[in-house]
Amino acid sequence: MADQNFPLTGFSSLAIHGGHEQDPRYAHLTPIYATSTFVYDSAEQGMRRFSGKEDGYIYSRWGNPTMEEAADKIAAMESFGITDAGGRPITVKGYLQASGMAAVNTLFMSTLKTGDKILSHYSLYGGSQEFMDKLLPEFGISVVIADLRDLDKAAAALKADPAIKMVYLETPANPTLQCVDIEALTKLGKQYGKIVACDNTFATPYLQQPFRFGVDFVIHSTTKFLNGHGTSIGGIVLGRDVEFMNAWAYKVHKLLGGNSNPFDAFLLINGMKTLEVRMERHCHNAMEVAGFLEGHAAVAKVNYTGLPSHPDYYISSKQMRHPGAMLSIELKGGIQAGIDMMNSLKMCTRTVSLGTCDTLMCHPASMTHYSVPKAQREQYGITDGLIRISVGMENIQDIIADMDQALK
Ligand SMILES: *Cc1c(COP(=O)(O)O)cnc(C)c1O
Repeated sequence: MADQNFPLTGFSSLAIHGGHEQDPRYAHLTPIYATSTFVYDSAEQGMRRFSGKEDGYIYSRWGNPTMEEAADKIAAMESFGITDAGGRPITVKGYLQASGMAAVNTLFMSTLKTGDKILSHYSLYGGSQEFMDKLLPEFGISVVIADLRDLDKAAAALKADPAIKMVYLETPANPTLQCVDIEALTKLGKQYGKIVACDNTFATPYLQQPFRFGVDFVIHSTTKFLNGHGTSIGGIVLGRDVEFMNAWAYKVHKLLGGNSNPFDAFLLINGMKTLEVRMERHCHNAMEVAGFLEGHAAVAKVNYTGLPSHPDYYISSKQMRHPGAMLSIELKGGIQAGIDMMNSLKMCTRTVSLGTCDTLMCHPASMTHYSVPKAQREQYGITDGLIRISVGMENIQDIIADMDQALK
């Protein structure tokens, strides 16, 4: 940890030093604490640990030094430079999870009960959407879907249904890259006394800090840009009510058992140190790729919030540092053009997921959404010729040359 009396003023300084504590055996990096349990000097010490009178680790599902460093680093980045109404820096608390979906689960299980409803947008990560559609109703929790880019519709939904307990945002959203206004929706949600949560996976805290706009909870799939190298699945749930996080959310986290593990946490810690430099390069490349594809004869449409042609250009530029590294394109030639482009790639990687060093491309109509009927997937904006791109950090001339030859 950097000296407590030496406040870090830059994002990378925080990403590198935040959450780190001196290892008792002087290892430079926090080791992979591969241990299920922790020992006591005496029965009395065990008693003090269990009763919470003495800080210290007990059992790795509850907490572990490697996982805690990763969680504290993300908490530091998500709260960096944000002050409360009295001008004091805010603190947030997070628990590292086995996956982004485990984070979604821990969030819902610690905040909702039977009879509650969630208000959300129609464009969401597929797993989150399926969780809300198929699993939550089994527990008497349902979801109200509205176009949250329209504040009047959001207000009407909140007014019409007092059972709504949470407003759940994901912005930019998968797979359409639609953005919703975090500040305006949080203000609206708070007017009606609702919990507001935001999935910040696509943006990362370097590009966007939802706590700045007053949201209560932030979740991530750390699998993507936070890890940055595609080496592990992971997630985190973070809250700004530290008392709630230390008490009830901690209990739910321990009982659900969706914790991460020391090895994945180690990979995550080290991946996150370069978040700022990686995102700068990712975003720079994405803008170049979007500009190239927008003028291409084989491309009907480019969905990138950094282009003034995107309907959410304004919202994205208001709440994000850069418009991100994700974009999608619509090929003029439909499904066959999509298959041909995927088959012709010589450097870019054919795969799902996002946020790694290499450029990742997928064709949902022949891959992730192959079994979804055409009419249904088109409702989610997944047309035959849609290609989703996670723009990587290769040299831009090579990315563009590969796309250009693949489109011929
Ligand atoms: C990938 C993803 C998730 C789910 O995360 P996993 O780590 O795959 O469980 C949730 N939300 C968004 C926006 C994602 O991209």
